[in-house]
This record gives sequence, C-alpha cells and structure tokens, in this order.
Amino acid sequence: MTQPNLPENVARIIPGEPFSFHCHQKIDCFTNCCRQLDLALTPYDALRMRKATGLHSSELLRRFIIVEHDQQSSLPQFYLTMVNDGKASCIFVKPEGCSIYKHRPGACRTYPLGRATVKSAKQLEEFFVLLKEAHCHGFKERTLQTIESFSNAQGLASYNYFNDLVAEILQHEKIRAGMSLTPKQTQSYITALYDIDTFRSKLKEGTIAGAAALPENIFYDDEQLLRYAINWVKWFLFSE
Ligand code: SF4
Ligand code: SF4
Repeated sequence: MTQPNLPENVARIIPGEPFSFHCHQKIDCFTNCCRQLDLALTPYDALRMRKATGLHSSELLRRFIIVEHDQQSSLPQFYLTMVNDGKASCIFVKPEGCSIYKHRPGACRTYPLGRATVKSAKQLEEFFVLLKEAHCHGFKERTLQTIESFSNAQGLASYNYFNDLVAEILQHEKIRAGMSLTPKQTQSYITALYDIDTFRSKLKEGTIAGAAALPENIFYDDEQLLRYAINWVKWFLFSE
C-alpha cells in the first residue's frame, strides 16, 4: 500500500516482504536506468570507482565526479558525471552494460530499493522503499526478492557499512544546525573523503593537522585508510 507523504510510485517495504524484480542483460530496458541521473556518490563509491579505473583519486575526481557546493548546504555534494551524448548517459555505460560493474556505486546496486537511515538514541535505524518507475521493466519478471536477498546479491554490506560511518558526519547536530564550512574545511573534507591518494600522501608527509596515531597497514589498506579519514573529518570539523 502506498504510504502517506511518499510519491505514488514509491512504497515503504519491510524486511522479509517479497517483491517481484529481476534485472538482466536480455531485458528490453537494459541500461535505460543509466541515463539522466543525479547520482550522488559516497566516499566508498569513490574508493571503488578508483579501484575500477586504476586512476589516482585526484584524477578520478577531476574526470568522473562533479562537485557542487551551494550556499544552502553545509557540505559539498558529489555526483557521477553524465556525458553530453543527447541522452545524458552515465560516463561508464556501454552497449554491453556497465563498464565498472564489479565496482559500480551503491545507488546503482540498491535500485529499485532505496535505503535511509535515522540516528536514534542508541543506534542507526534503517528504512527501505521500493521505487517503481515506468521505464523499468524488471518488475514484470517473476523472480521474487526480499530486501535481504536483493541486498546480498548486490553486495551491499560494505557500501552500507561505510555509508553508515559517513552518516555520522552528514547527520551530525552541527551540520543539521546549518554549520557553514570555511574554504579550508571544505577542501580538507573533499581531500579526506574523495581524494584518498592525496590524503594518504599528506599523512605520510605529516602535514595533516591533528592526525592521531596511524593504524598498522594504513598506507596499504584503502578501506582502513577511509575509516581513518572519516574519523579524522569528524575530529577536524566537530572537535571544537
Ligand atoms: S555506474 Fe554503471 S550501473 Fe551505475 S549508472 Fe553508470 S553505467 Fe549504470
Ligand atoms: S531499467 Fe530496471 S530492469 Fe531495466 S536495466 Fe535498469 S534496473 Fe534493470
């Protein structure tokens, strides 16, 4: 049943509730969903895209990620680049499908589900919706899915794990109160979370202010480095 306050094609869905959906290469809408997107990228998405492309993170940022920072929002926003081919296609879409499929962003994996988290007194609570768009014919397929089976098949655990860590920044009380960042804070936020190779170099040089003791292997383990960077941003933005 459609929930109040949600658009007509969006419905709340609960764990264990079945829905019919299957996306595959032979479906007639294949890759239709990879165009005209405002696809927000998380720091973990950027890490995986860097792995897929083999690029230095600053090059990845320059070529494949659009950074926007308007007056209304405290923090900059990051979007996947679409190309000017008359269809506003994702820069990674090819006739045979996604060229970075193994490392595609979390939003591409999650679709047609949507996941939101809200911080309660003790923990992060998660909520899911199902987005039924007319152009997506995956709902006509007979394969039954649940949030759990679909999330497992899409490899969403590590994406959700890192996104929940970042949510502690995005949902911080100072951000919710409209904190405005200085240009230096903005640049440090971008470097630490979306330009991990530059952040690593600065850590090695010892030019990151207030860097706590570095965990073993941080220079060789990207995920450990990203965890460190998220904690560093929390300290850098909110410690005063
Ligand atoms: S990254 Fe891949 S799955 Fe995501 S929109 Fe682009 S082509 Fe499609
Ligand atoms: S529109 Fe739906 S079914 Fe078609 S390719 Fe995209 S996700 Fe798959």
